[in-house]
Amino acid sequence: MKIIPVIPEHEAFANSYLLIDEPTGEAVYIDPGCFLDNARNAIKNSGADVKYILHTHGHFDHILGTHHAKEALGAKIAIHPADERCLSSRLYSLMDMFGVDAELIPEKADVLINDGDIIRFGDSELKVMHTPGHTPGGVCFISESERVIFSGDTLFHSTAGRTDGVGGDFDELCDSLRKLISLDGNYTVYPGHSIATDLDHERKRNFIIRRMK
Ligand SMILES: [Zn+2]
Ligand SMILES: [Zn+2]
Repeated sequence: MKIIPVIPEHEAFANSYLLIDEPTGEAVYIDPGCFLDNARNAIKNSGADVKYILHTHGHFDHILGTHHAKEALGAKIAIHPADERCLSSRLYSLMDMFGVDAELIPEKADVLINDGDIIRFGDSELKVMHTPGHTPGGVCFISESERVIFSGDTLFHSTAGRTDGVGGDFDELCDSLRKLISLDGNYTVYPGHSIATDLDHERKRNFIIRRMK
């Protein structure tokens, strides 16, 4: 699996990731916060055939490009059922809370993804782990074979996602962080914001995890 991070053109938006199953060219695209030239060029230059537009959760900085990505790629929109409402809501996507003055073109899920589901593209697969707390329908995508986790806004380098948005819940976030650090062995972690990290670092150094009981 080839992993291509796509840094957003505006820093208010989330990191996106293009994951390609190299033998077949089939791919997934994670979190199209904005879907502008960076994203379009990365996909075009790779020759990837994107099957799914995956969402770690439904906040505006992860979904404002969803409509444009679907239009450009013809791929299926996948999100957890508890966050599907965000795709068409300024309230649940936190556009109201942050006073975001952009157009939200409403979308619906083509595929609802739940804890334990496997997303297949080519010979590659990602496992869905439901990690609520930052949002009710937050998920992480895990590749066992590549030992990588796409953690959205649940787990960041040395910290974790905020829980003061609509539907946020700090106790749930802590339970989700416990699920992640309970995985066996080490994983590289690609978060929704800031730089990549790994699970061993977070087990030892994460500001929130160190204070959890
Ligand atoms: Zn975010
Ligand atoms: Zn978020």
